[in-house]
Amino acid sequence: MAMQAVTLSVVVPMFDEADAVPYLFARLRAVLENLGVSYEVIAVDDGSRDETAELVSQEGARWPQLRLIRLLRNVGHQAAIGAGMEHSSGDYVVTIDADLQDPPEEIAAMLTLARRDRLDVVYGIRRDRSSDSVAKRVSAGWYYRVVRRLAGPQVPAHAGDFRLVSRRVLNALAQLPEHGRVYRLVIPWLGFPAAEHHYTRDSRVAGSSKYQLASMLRLAFDSVTSFSAAPLRIATWAGLTAALLCTLFMAWTVVEWLRGDTVAGWASTVIVVMLLGVVQLLCLGLLGEYVGRLFSAAQQRPTYIVGFDSRQDTGPVRQVPRPYKDQPLEGDGGSQAIVDHRR
Ligand code: UDP
Ligand code: MG
Repeated sequence: MAMQAVTLSVVVPMFDEADAVPYLFARLRAVLENLGVSYEVIAVDDGSRDETAELVSQEGARWPQLRLIRLLRNVGHQAAIGAGMEHSSGDYVVTIDADLQDPPEEIAAMLTLARRDRLDVVYGIRRDRSSDSVAKRVSAGWYYRVVRRLAGPQVPAHAGDFRLVSRRVLNALAQLPEHGRVYRLVIPWLGFPAAEHHYTRDSRVAGSSKYQLASMLRLAFDSVTSFSAAPLRIATWAGLTAALLCTLFMAWTVVEWLRGDTVAGWASTVIVVMLLGVVQLLCLGLLGEYVGRLFSAAQQRPTYIVGFDSRQDTGPVRQVPRPYKDQPLEGDGGSQAIVDHRR
């Protein structure tokens, strides 16, 4: 079968989205069939523990444009998006969440805008966040404020990962082998011609949010430390200020001592110790963040490993990513030898 050139690739990261998958595919397929362009859908199963991969695989039997890429384990939203984009072949690639918070119907307008104005990036911008919890809205507000300050005003506020990019952008991204990439910052930083497309973000169709507090903090830390060394300077300034305060305090102590007014200064001792402790811990933590990034960059580990790709392998999905101990021991000499050795 000759491969047809693909105009639009749609990348969907999925982590335990079995409840949302049927709704997603019904709506997404209706939209894509009406676009009048050749397309592919790349469902990236980010190490789900539920039936997500099976459902995608079943749907793939009825929908030839649907491709399943199953990662060996959970690597997180951003890395899953990266995996999907790297396996895509379309002239344009849209990334969209699996939970239908980003309406697939908007894809048509985004593609039209990109083609008409010859743009390389179209950001989906959330018009309002009334579907999000108060805590999420407040934290998101702070996140975009800080991140725009550090990464530059070209980063659109309230642009998540519902976005269309061109092949040119993907080629440029391929040249940045950086770890812990945050696409919503890296893509604006590249500086390709871009526009915003405003849309209303719905609430999740089924299941619950996969972003726990820990992953939100991770995203925030990656966003800040991948774009700026400014926090290291905060550490320096905090250290300098503390040093100045301590000097004044010491001078005052000496004066008091000369005047013979010294009393057992328990309170002041405790304050000094605490102050220094806080500043030192703060600086150490910040250093640790950057050293950690250097460490993972130096390791050069891949951000994900593909366990199954429906384009290459049409066998049952379940066969591939499974822990060693669960693997069936068929009459294969090699594996038999390993098993004997273990016993
Ligand atoms: N996701 C993923 N890997 C993860 C966490 C999330 O692929 O480790 C996917 C998830 O399936 C969804 C998208 O990323 O398609 C956004 O996640 P979610 O809707 O839970 O985040 P929220 O909308 O609550 O910020
Ligand atoms: Mg969501």
